[in-house]
Amino acid sequence: MEDLGTRVPLAPYTTLELGGPAACFASAHDVASLTRLLAHAEEREMPVVILGGGSNLVVADTGFDGLVIAMRMRGVTTTRQGDVVLVEAAAGEPWDELVDRTTLEGLAGLECLSGIPGLVGATPIQNVGAYGQEVADTIASVRVLDRVEKRVVELTPAQCEFGYRDSMFKRDPERYVVLSVVFALVPDGAATVRYAELARALEGRPRDVRTVRETVIALRRAKSMVIDPVDPNRRSAGSFFTNPIVDASIADALSAQHENMPRWPQPDGRVKLAAGWLIERAGITKGLRRGHVGISTKHALALVHHGGGTTTELLALASEVQDAVRARFGVELHREPVLWR
Ligand SMILES: Cc1cc2nc3c(=O)[nH]c(=O)nc-3n(C[C@H](O)[C@H](O)[C@H](O)COP(=O)(O)OP(=O)(O)OC[C@H]3O[C@@H](n4cnc5c(N)ncnc54)[C@H](O)[C@@H]3O)c2cc1C
Repeated sequence: MEDLGTRVPLAPYTTLELGGPAACFASAHDVASLTRLLAHAEEREMPVVILGGGSNLVVADTGFDGLVIAMRMRGVTTTRQGDVVLVEAAAGEPWDELVDRTTLEGLAGLECLSGIPGLVGATPIQNVGAYGQEVADTIASVRVLDRVEKRVVELTPAQCEFGYRDSMFKRDPERYVVLSVVFALVPDGAATVRYAELARALEGRPRDVRTVRETVIALRRAKSMVIDPVDPNRRSAGSFFTNPIVDASIADALSAQHENMPRWPQPDGRVKLAAGWLIERAGITKGLRRGHVGISTKHALALVHHGGGTTTELLALASEVQDAVRARFGVELHREPVLWR
């Protein structure tokens, strides 16, 4: 049986560095060890959660009263199939190492997702996205362990039901463990430059995938959106809220009152608003402090922990932000990171 730790502090496993202990903690290095750990928990009727890099997680101060399984499976394989290269990466592969490697090989499809922390296995969960790209654009299939049927299955992108920072996995978190993800990337393909801020930063520079990767990382660094051990904003979960999507009539009414409000039409006729813009206009400024937590000095959407704080403080600040935006604009902000309690 795998090494099972008890009362293991979870804070060091999260980028926020917050939260209490896991009642039990173990690492899964392959499907066999994962299956054994799940069976062990089931026999004891113990709840189970899956841990990647802990960069999209808020753990309660009381911790998690169950088994935390850390995904540590490694391995990347590459196969040419017609016009694309299929890259299969195991769940425990560090995400940015994969983007570094594929862009070095001149493969297009992941370049705008450079600098995002965490592991490959978590990327389908919230359909990770940034700078005009999301993993759903290139995912060819996701290999999962179905915890109900107790077998390994290959899911198609349609079965994953990807949406904006959303997927079937996020809505049904107890059913599947992601084992590996297959991305269909284009050799010597054109880089994606859809995002105005990225296009501006690339002016006068080549638009190959490597340059786009470097440019995205520079843009992210300026917003404290890469993990940097010397950055005072480093303890965060990235964006704490998703951009709200509202009916067109609501967006029109808000635009009439607030000139220059950023808005992006969605394929279903609704309109996506900029959560960061709403937060700042609601009077929550960058650098605001509430005890040991605060708003990043570089990015209004990131809640940061300054050390020595608690999850209770962080969630109180999150509620303060949500209340301010609701009071000013009548718009509800939804938390992006997953909460374990
Ligand atoms: C500085 C910073 C910048 C960020 N920028 C972005 C960004 O630009 N775009 C973006 O989309 N996100 C961003 N994020 C959020 C985060 O990095 C991503 O969501 C990332 O994919 C989370 O990966 P992780 O391995 O850390 O997942 P974790 O935080 O460990 O887990 C997140 C969720 O996924 C589940 N999970 C993890 N692995 C598996 C698995 N193998 N099978 C089943 N469930 C699993 C967990 O149970 C949990 O519910 C940022 C975070 C930080 C700290």
